[in-house]
Amino acid sequence: MTVPRPGLKPLDTALAELLAFAKPLPGTEHVATFDADGRVLAQDLISSLHVPPQDNSSMDGYAVRCADITNPAAALPVSQRIAAGTSGGPLAPASVARIFTGAPVPLGADAIVMQEDCEVQADGAVRITNQPRTGQWIRRAGEDVALGAVVLAQGQRLGPAALGLAASIGLDQLPVSRRPKVALFSTGDELVMPGQVAPADMLPGAIYNSNRFFLRALLLRLGCDVTDLGIVPDRLDATVDALRQAASHHDLILTSGGVSVGEEDHIKPAVQSLGTLDLWQIAIKPGKPFAYGQVGAAHFIGLPGNPVSSFVTFLLLVRPFLLKLQGQSQWVPARMALPAHFTWAKADKRREFLRVRRNAAGGLDLFPNQSSGVLTSAVWGDGLVDNPAGQTIAPGDTVQFIPFAELL
Ligand code: AMP
Ligand code: MG
Repeated sequence: MTVPRPGLKPLDTALAELLAFAKPLPGTEHVATFDADGRVLAQDLISSLHVPPQDNSSMDGYAVRCADITNPAAALPVSQRIAAGTSGGPLAPASVARIFTGAPVPLGADAIVMQEDCEVQADGAVRITNQPRTGQWIRRAGEDVALGAVVLAQGQRLGPAALGLAASIGLDQLPVSRRPKVALFSTGDELVMPGQVAPADMLPGAIYNSNRFFLRALLLRLGCDVTDLGIVPDRLDATVDALRQAASHHDLILTSGGVSVGEEDHIKPAVQSLGTLDLWQIAIKPGKPFAYGQVGAAHFIGLPGNPVSSFVTFLLLVRPFLLKLQGQSQWVPARMALPAHFTWAKADKRREFLRVRRNAAGGLDLFPNQSSGVLTSAVWGDGLVDNPAGQTIAPGDTVQFIPFAELL
């Protein structure tokens, strides 16, 4: 393995240093369970009941006492009818109870016989054609959730199934962490907004601001409240003004562009004039320049301007940072070992994150242009290959694939 140049920070070091700054935001909110998708639980949810509350039938059929069915030729009378939402009395000796899916099993019954295994006689009595096993087709009280169990743990991000589970223990409100308030702006005099200038009217050197769109969308997906401060011109005073405005009432200021050390890159001196800043050169490709600092009480993160660098550094560094602010306990994306169906002949000194796509043969195809300006690669691709520094790839080699689905 190639050791990165001195001065280049390994990604894992950068991430550990960054996360050390991310203290979970104080304060718990209570939101309606209906509205809690994507939020992070601020407390354990403990069940005050069994789910299901009682033993109940998982079939339409008959509740029986197995000991009553010693002679399969004999028919037993139907002593009661129990539909879902009602509850019957104890099962009378030598009888069966008509029962439907979800209805409580009557006291004394120890199995359900599905109606397909029963013959109803002319007089209404029921003949059971197969000897039932004790417990068959009975869903036990508490088999999903036992009273007192921790159903969902603090730090867990709530998804659709989790909302259903919380509702199943009777919770219509959930304690969640506060949404991080994030101020977003883009730097660059070349940037114009779609809708403001038509493609035919673009001046030489102008480009559309694409970072603003995906960064905003990424922030929203991660549960942030976003204040979009638009485009800030490449001037020190304008950059200082934007930062000063953003620092109050935000947990994080996120910018793209202007973090190199060129004459037109004003992020570094602007942040330093108001607070503190470390400019990092991270040993990854795409995405080398990255800045972390503080302006007043707000965190500051400066992403590179190249769209793919911005996108990838967001996923690898900003995402875990924001999840930690929200108290999320698990943020490491699952990865898969998959065969490369491509050649990567030129090893880089930096750890690379290649835009790839799974193919029908179970392998990975590579987007042909891996330039940090080619945003098409991130749309064509469905994930990243995490390729160690100094590593070439031949077809058939096993590589580490991180699906975008794990990161978005
Ligand atoms: P910078 O990091 O400011 O030197 O920008 C690096 C490259 O990314 C330049 O080619 C910029 O034009 C481009 N770039 C910077 N910001 C954006 C943006 N918001 N949308 C699209 N491209 C950008
Ligand atoms: Mg720039």
